[in-house]
Amino acid sequence: MIPYGKQDINQADIDSVVNILKSDFLTQGPQIPLFEKNVSDYCGVSTAVAVNSATSALHIACLALGLGRDDWLWTSPNTFVASANCGLYCGANVDFVDIDPKTYNLCIKELEKKLIQARKDNNLPKIVIPVHFAGQSCNMEKISSLSKEYGFRVIEDASHAIGGKYQGKSIGCCQYSDITVFSFHPVKIITTAEGGLATTNDVSLADKMKSLRSHGITRDTSLMTSVSEGDWYYQQIDLGFNYRMTELQAALGLSQMKRLDEFVARRHECKEYYDELLDGVSIVTPFQSPDCYSALHLYPILLDQDQVKKSRQKVFKELRAGAIGVNVHYIPVHMQPYYKDRGFKKGDFPKSENYYKSVISIPLFQSLTKEMQDEVVGTLKSILE
Ligand SMILES: *Cc1c(COP(=O)(O)O)cnc(C)c1O
Repeated sequence: MIPYGKQDINQADIDSVVNILKSDFLTQGPQIPLFEKNVSDYCGVSTAVAVNSATSALHIACLALGLGRDDWLWTSPNTFVASANCGLYCGANVDFVDIDPKTYNLCIKELEKKLIQARKDNNLPKIVIPVHFAGQSCNMEKISSLSKEYGFRVIEDASHAIGGKYQGKSIGCCQYSDITVFSFHPVKIITTAEGGLATTNDVSLADKMKSLRSHGITRDTSLMTSVSEGDWYYQQIDLGFNYRMTELQAALGLSQMKRLDEFVARRHECKEYYDELLDGVSIVTPFQSPDCYSALHLYPILLDQDQVKKSRQKVFKELRAGAIGVNVHYIPVHMQPYYKDRGFKKGDFPKSENYYKSVISIPLFQSLTKEMQDEVVGTLKSILE
């Protein structure tokens, strides 16, 4: 089976982890700040806060921005559930903004329409989380200008997008947002096994997130309410969690960062070859915005339902039976039972629902070979004919 995504681990990655196992610190040592500095330098942002998952990063990002009961958080329905759940963790209400059928990202026109209505209804969002679907940035310039007009804060869910660029700048630079979040799950661009990271240019948000990732405890005397009582002394100044990344993960992340640009370039090669192979097939290939350099986490294809006589379900099943490890991204979040129980229903976000009906993610990862791609497309073509 050719999987839809796969990590790329080399000997240098393995050695870096083994070295940490033999060192003094398995957690809370020097690798974390080194990894954070490496990622923040790469992104061109002042601070990075590494944690044990992107889900944790989204949670503490929302808390740092003050999200709480009665507040609203908006995101795209075409995402992993974590982009919405972080709002519920904070006791806030969650709502969605339907997607642009071309980019599959949150639609700016829909966002603006919904903001106008929310202003009338007096329930404007406190936070909007644009998700850079498949690694391609949302229209951040416009989202940022709307955030100023309507007074909401912005967290970029860039779980798919490390190594990508928007308007020539690295995703994660936070030019148009308060915080950007990355995921290092093995199917994403680089991996730390589990792991995530938040970037920001706001020192107070960074301090708050650092505190929240480790119980709300600080050893920084400048943040304490009174003078330190000695070298053992720490203060709990907030209610935080244990969301820390380990030294093993940070070392792996540091090692993976060395190959990030190479990984993304390789994904572009694979994308170009797919574009070529799929030319003339009854499917829609992913649109690339001219102001974006996508990190290409995914290669989602849409079946042309007028041309293809088989259902997506059937095509998917036959691909899997043909040893092609396809997947579907995403079941619209509002269609999940947990969200349906909270009042959402079929038809609420029709563009996401329509997209979902015909999408299939075909394999895309660094070590995907031309032969594998020939096999993927060959199998697909024989199923569609
Ligand atoms: C993977 C993913 C997450 C969650 O990442 P974890 O590191 O597994 O917590 C959140 N949002 C999106 C869009 C993702 O793809």
